[in-house]
Amino acid sequence: MKKKGLLVVVSGPSGAGKGTICKNFMELNKQMLLSISSTTRNPRENEIDGVNYNFITKQDFEDLIGTDSLLEYVHVFGNYYGTPKKWVLECIEKGKDVLLEIEIVGAMKVKEKYPDAILVFVLPPSLKELKNRIVTRGTETIEQIENRMARAMQEIKTIEKYDYFIFNDNLTRAVDDLEAIISAEKNKVNRY
Ligand code: 5GP
Repeated sequence: MKKKGLLVVVSGPSGAGKGTICKNFMELNKQMLLSISSTTRNPRENEIDGVNYNFITKQDFEDLIGTDSLLEYVHVFGNYYGTPKKWVLECIEKGKDVLLEIEIVGAMKVKEKYPDAILVFVLPPSLKELKNRIVTRGTETIEQIENRMARAMQEIKTIEKYDYFIFNDNLTRAVDDLEAIISAEKNKVNRY
């Protein structure tokens, strides 16, 4: 029987560096597919529709909810974010590995619906550094930054629900850690 692909969920607080880890990981691992989420958030200056996200209207997002087209979705920071269901499940069935880069509530929902998912939590080196990264990104207002920090502190408490963590104090090592986790999961004797 053909093995299913892996569903790897990388999550952690906004600003922990999970996006950069996933981007670098994807460049080195071309066989891995990255799921593109839909969001109602406005694109940031450097973001491309269909690449970083599918940027859609609230109405279109609610239609996706209504037609049960999302594997999970959340409403955070004033916007909807959601993972495409059909595409992800089809890829896995075909034996392809899929990476999701999503926040914590969504990660828990994925695990509920798909227990074989592998949950990886990205920890920032410190809360001070986390704030630094969000501020340096320069895309959020002070209020939005405070909001993201408050949420980050709550999110870090959920780490025990994860299978693995990556301590992101060094990008190269963090990417190596993600590769090692996935490689170990792929070599599990009883994986089907
Ligand atoms: P940002 O606005 O910084 O791009 O994303 C805010 C948060 O939403 C990040 O933690 C990001 O990982 C998360 N996120 C992005 N796409 C999804 C998704 O499809 N589902 C969930 N649950 N979270 C997402």
